[in-house]
Amino acid sequence: MYVPRTHGVVVRCFGCLELITLYVAPLDYEAWLTGTHAQDVFPYLTDGERELLISNTCDKCFEEMFPEEEEEEWYPEDDSDYAIDPESDLFEYSNDWYVD
Ligand SMILES: [Zn+2]
Repeated sequence: MYVPRTHGVVVRCFGCLELITLYVAPLDYEAWLTGTHAQDVFPYLTDGERELLISNTCDKCFEEMFPEEEEEEWYPEDDSDYAIDPESDLFEYSNDWYVD
């Protein structure tokens, strides 16, 4: 089914303050505003574009905050004391980031 993506959404990245315009179908945008998950509503957007809508962070800034090679390195399985590591940047952001 073809849905015209006529609704322009202007999003400012909180990281680099760049303005980026995404085009989506008006009804999809409405559904997203009322709580439907972005991955269900905007299957035609890239992961990066959805992330921009959800967290106001563009691809470039997201990469800087979450370098892929550091994933899971800070969480040793055998010692639960390390589950909360106040020194970790990843922990600082992780609470809010994967909500949607
Ligand atoms: Zn940015």
